[in-house]
Amino acid sequence: MAEFRKLAKDVYVFLQPPLVWYSSAGVIIGEQDVIVVDSLTNAAMTQSLRAEIRRVTDKPIRFLINTHSHADHVYTNHLFPEATVLTTHRGRERTKDSRKVQGKHDALFARLFSDVDFRGGRYTLQDMSISGCLSFYQGEREVRVLELGVGHSESDVVVHLPGEKIVFCGDLFLNGMPPLPGEGHVTQTIASYKAIEALEADIYVAGHGDPGTLADVRAQRTLLESQFQRARECFERGMSYDAALQALAGDDVPLDFQRMIILSSYCEFTGKLPESTDPASQNHLTMLQGIATEAKLLLGRKG
Ligand SMILES: [Zn+2]
Repeated sequence: MAEFRKLAKDVYVFLQPPLVWYSSAGVIIGEQDVIVVDSLTNAAMTQSLRAEIRRVTDKPIRFLINTHSHADHVYTNHLFPEATVLTTHRGRERTKDSRKVQGKHDALFARLFSDVDFRGGRYTLQDMSISGCLSFYQGEREVRVLELGVGHSESDVVVHLPGEKIVFCGDLFLNGMPPLPGEGHVTQTIASYKAIEALEADIYVAGHGDPGTLADVRAQRTLLESQFQRARECFERGMSYDAALQALAGDDVPLDFQRMIILSSYCEFTGKLPESTDPASQNHLTMLQGIATEAKLLLGRKG
């Protein structure tokens, strides 16, 4: 069940069952209007979110911020027609690319994630793009949009409320499951973790799962650092990606998450996608399907 949870005065998070494709959305109510952080996967989820917003305010939704371009964070942008939608320049470019192959994505999602409802969802281009940093001011409140760079996605954005000490982290921070550096830049992902730790917030809203604390974010970063270090040791010993995967499999990180971390590590070490005989490593979406299954096991216990 979804939950609309108050985090501070006029700041809410729409929490969904803690699963892949069921992302969280932020709601920040100002004196004049409302800012929403991330749209959702399907029309029904979005209707629930909008109904919850209307329960607490009748102010217009003026801005919608996409933390990155993945479907579960942008797929219902068009269901906020009154809002100006913004994301990073890279995020907008990626959304544009995804939009061109919408039919292919529809078919893949239907085949690989047949239990997920994508109805009413599609890629819609953002109206504005930012590079770096942008601040909104809602009266006394500052809402800071920070672009941290490549990490989980093409360029991760977090939304920081310095006054309330809240950070909406997008999928840079996933609570209850390991980090997913999806773009082959683990060092930069670790740097982004450190950047959000430096904000010293009280509440870190995860892209999926319950909001966490600074300690939760730090623990995720430490886990990623240790996995990255182990991958590096394999690489420096001259081991292939497949050999590294085999050597490291079975420790405390579920296999498909680990695959993503080692694959990204090897991409970073070599500057290209490593060759592999492992079918899941060759196919990003097959790996994502595995991650979704593992996440269900990890998080389903809580949900
Ligand atoms: Zn997500």
